[in-house]
Amino acid sequence: MALIPLDKMKQYMEISNAAEMLLTHPEKEIKFSLNLKIAPDTIICHDAYVIYHNVVLGPAKGGIRFSPTVTVDETRKLAEIMTYKNALMRIPFGGGKSGVCIDPYALDDFRKVAVVKEFVHMIREELVAGHYVPAPDMGTTPTDMAVIYGELHKSECVTGKPVRIGGLPGRLEATGRGVSCATRLGIERILKRKVAGSKIAVQGFGNVGRWTAFFLSEMGAKVVAINDRGGSVYNRAGLNVMKLFDYAPTSRDSVSGFSGGEPISQSDFFGMEVDVLIPAALENVLNSETAPKVRTKLIVEGANDPTSADGEKILKKNGIPILPDFFANAGGVVASYIEWRNAKSGNQTSKQEVFEFIDAKIETIFHEGFTIAKKMKAGYREAFSYIALNELIKAMEERAWL
Ligand code: NAD
Repeated sequence: MALIPLDKMKQYMEISNAAEMLLTHPEKEIKFSLNLKIAPDTIICHDAYVIYHNVVLGPAKGGIRFSPTVTVDETRKLAEIMTYKNALMRIPFGGGKSGVCIDPYALDDFRKVAVVKEFVHMIREELVAGHYVPAPDMGTTPTDMAVIYGELHKSECVTGKPVRIGGLPGRLEATGRGVSCATRLGIERILKRKVAGSKIAVQGFGNVGRWTAFFLSEMGAKVVAINDRGGSVYNRAGLNVMKLFDYAPTSRDSVSGFSGGEPISQSDFFGMEVDVLIPAALENVLNSETAPKVRTKLIVEGANDPTSADGEKILKKNGIPILPDFFANAGGVVASYIEWRNAKSGNQTSKQEVFEFIDAKIETIFHEGFTIAKKMKAGYREAFSYIALNELIKAMEERAWL
């Protein structure tokens, strides 16, 4: 779902045919096969895509996904989400994304470096020119970004690097920081309750899920359940997130078997009575099968595109509000913008300043969206789409594209 189709948005605003054409035709799509002799007797060939959806606001910005489920359609959709996310956050980036159809967990560290280097080799000109500025996404890490930097030696060509080599303090936590800030605002303004003591369930204990859980538990919320690809863990009194960090230190590890909670099935996980459910792992997990079971009061989309169109209809009918991905998980790209800007200017920013910048962006835009949703008598997805579309259409006019 992620974005409201333009046809539907026309009931709230004027969208010319020309604007619609430019927003529905990705500007550039690069497809290649990542072919590599990875061991004396092993050659690998994996489909790879780099997509620029709309770059009216600046260079194509979006993470690199390594996953066995990557497709051209998925990459296209994720690039489109980035166009709206950047426009909504009012940062000078266009929408981009790349993906390699490969299982990152099946690669040892040595082979992963070789794969990342080959990826750079295939799109080197795009990266050096600054047309596409990657960052980590599912299956890629700051170390992978460091490898990209090592191939290019231009700090502004990639974000999400480790702090010591031009990365930004707080970039690692940034997406979870933004999701937790959006969740706090949702609890306070939409549910009209306090964060402290609110019950939260998070799917995913990778980069987004773990830092979201961390910041929410720091605010006093009870993270009662976490589900990842290995299983789920539940504790009515709230899980000890710091102990979970020790138990499952990386995205490859699972919370399954953690002794500070009890196991539950994935179906029970989605059906839990909580204040906020935060899908922060995969696409389309809230679908026609899972949505009817959902008994949360609010959904905050930490992952990109976690709610299918069918799922959204059911959740809407059941009166469950949703803070959409391109708003809620924008903290990462906001931090990437600071990292990119610092790389160009030589400026340095502290972790505290980064968190304050993310919080301020998320708060300002939440209030704007909250007011517009009321005025439009529509959902938050429609309201945030309205803000982003206005930015994009005005920018296309200013650049004489329309
Ligand atoms: P990650 O690779 O660090 O972690 C992925 C997590 O998903 C892991 O905990 C894994 O166990 C879990 N998972 C995988 N398959 C699962 C399954 N079948 N059931 C339940 N859990 C499963 O990825 P990430 O960077 O945290 O990204 C997660 C989502 O957030 C993606 O949709 C990504 O596009 C989005 N996102 C990430 C960032 C970022 O800065 N990393 C920014 C914005 C949006």
